[in-house]
Amino acid sequence: MSQVGCVVTHWIVGNEQDKGIPNAQSKNRIRNHMRRYSAFAIAREGARYHTGWERAWKSPEPKKRYDAIILGAGGHGLATAYYLGKNHGIKNVAILEKGWLGGGNTGRNTTIIRSNYLQDPSAAIYEKARSLYETMSQDLNYNVMFSPRGVMMLAQTEHEIRGYERTAHANALQGVATEFISPQRVKELVPIINIHGPRYPVLGALWQPRGGTARHDAVAWGYARACSNMGMDIIQQCEVTGVRRDGDKVIGVDTTKGPIDCDKLGVVVAGHSGVLADMAGFRLPIESVALQALVSEPIKPCMDVVVMANTVHGYMSQSDKGEMVIGGGADGYNNYTQRGSFHHIEETVRALVETFPMISRLKMLRQWGGIVDMTGDRSPIISKTPVENMFINCGWGTGGFKAIPGSGWAMAELMAKGASPLADEFTMWRFGEGKFIDESVAAGVAH
Ligand SMILES: Cc1cc2nc3c(=O)[nH]c(=O)nc-3n(C[C@H](O)[C@H](O)[C@H](O)COP(=O)(O)OP(=O)(O)OC[C@H]3O[C@@H](n4cnc5c(N)ncnc54)[C@H](O)[C@@H]3O)c2cc1C
Repeated sequence: MSQVGCVVTHWIVGNEQDKGIPNAQSKNRIRNHMRRYSAFAIAREGARYHTGWERAWKSPEPKKRYDAIILGAGGHGLATAYYLGKNHGIKNVAILEKGWLGGGNTGRNTTIIRSNYLQDPSAAIYEKARSLYETMSQDLNYNVMFSPRGVMMLAQTEHEIRGYERTAHANALQGVATEFISPQRVKELVPIINIHGPRYPVLGALWQPRGGTARHDAVAWGYARACSNMGMDIIQQCEVTGVRRDGDKVIGVDTTKGPIDCDKLGVVVAGHSGVLADMAGFRLPIESVALQALVSEPIKPCMDVVVMANTVHGYMSQSDKGEMVIGGGADGYNNYTQRGSFHHIEETVRALVETFPMISRLKMLRQWGGIVDMTGDRSPIISKTPVENMFINCGWGTGGFKAIPGSGWAMAELMAKGASPLADEFTMWRFGEGKFIDESVAAGVAH
């Protein structure tokens, strides 16, 4: 599969370990600095039957010691490593991943990107992330297929109208461009929608024109390639089984590839955050549940915005390949499965048939789940921990794909400097102090 410019069209995770190998025929040449992807490179490789592509990232054996170790090669972990190198010059870094990179929630999500949150700290970090997405392809020299096609969240009750109007006013003060639009404008933007739904008619929507989608795998691959290019070690199939401490200070980790020492440890493992915290000897206010999604067979272009219907509970966008990408709900009980349960498919499809009657004629192709990490206030944790030099980034729950660059930026700054303006309010101690960042309207069932 060619990764040139990431013109890749298949959706969601595969389980190949060699996703980073652009061409099995290549001689696996590894150079210190990778060649830039460009139109010229495509032409050059075309002329020599694509035999010269390099691996997108190296797969080294772990060293004995690193300045920093990042646990979890999802989008947030890879972005943290990238900004540690790019913004703070810390490049003696390993990223340890128990499976394959991007194989967690990053490769399983429905890729909605928006920053229309209510509270100031949330709007700041999500808008930082959204703005970094705008230039990510150029920054990483990797086409992440960012598509700012616009995101709308339907208001289908009086309560939602009030909530979204309030958010639009808050966004205006925060410098986030959103507006509350009428049902007629909704219909203009989404001709296939039924605004006179049998249970809940569409009464308006919160509209963010610069929200959109990006290619999830490409985000992970682009960061991975850039990290590897900086000399960082991405070590897949390397599960962390213990956190080693000297008194209150972290000194390394135990892994399935042996012990590795480090000065600083960043834990970015989403649904497994509670497990890692347990290894280090503290507890996190996190619950892990399976969240699921599904895609239909591909069809001709019929909807060029993202629509979220939170009252009936379903959301939908159309991928570049033509599949309708559909998000459902989270299981009502804690679990570590990556499947999701059948009743959610039924509930989600019912909600969407009501909102978009034409999808009743579509076949659904695939369904999957990811383990999301939920906090009580539906806001993330980017924080120091009770263990010195150990940092944690988690709690992105059902909506962290959109935050990847902003989260990595803040986490890297926190690890490098001990504080970050973007992360200040997201400490793990806010739950004890009652300083919640309540985003249950923006993030409770939305993504
Ligand atoms: C179905 C679904 C739909 C979603 N839709 C959206 C959406 O539309 N928009 C949006 O913004 N967000 C969405 N999300 C949420 C989003 O996917 C996540 O918030 C985000 O991807 C989390 O990224 P991450 O890097 O923190 O975690 P992950 O990508 O899960 O990465 C964590 C990594 O840590 C690794 N790991 C765990 N334990 C260990 C260990 N002991 N040792 C080594 N490695 C370990 C895992 O293998 C994993 O690869 C959705 C999630 C799901 C499941």
